[in-house]
Amino acid sequence: MNQVREFFHIKRCNKCQGFRHLAKDCPSNRPSCGSCAGHHPTRKCRSHQVVCINCAMHKQFHGTRFPAYHHTSDRGCSCYLGEVALYKETRDY
Ligand SMILES: [Zn+2]
Ligand SMILES: [Zn+2]
Ligand SMILES: [Zn+2]
Repeated sequence: MNQVREFFHIKRCNKCQGFRHLAKDCPSNRPSCGSCAGHHPTRKCRSHQVVCINCAMHKQFHGTRFPAYHHTSDRGCSCYLGEVALYKETRDY
C-alpha cells in the first residue's frame, strides 16, 4: 500500500483567491477576501463569517451545490479538489 501523501503545487492567487495564477499575474483589480469572500485583502478581514469565494462563485455561475462555508485554503474545498483532479489529468508521469 502506498500511503505517501501526495502534494500538489496548485497555484492560488492570494489577491483574488482564483486558481492557476499568482497575485503578480492577477487579472482582477479588486482584492477578494480568502476568509469571508468580501472585497478586501484577507489580512484586513474583520468578518466572522467564513465563505469560500471560489465555491460561492461556482455555485452562482454553475448552479452547483458546493458547500461554501469554509476558508478558501481549505483542503476539502470542492474547487481546490477540482483543480487537483485537473492537475493530475494534465500531468505526465
Ligand atoms: Zn488573482
Ligand atoms: Zn473578509
Ligand atoms: Zn471552496
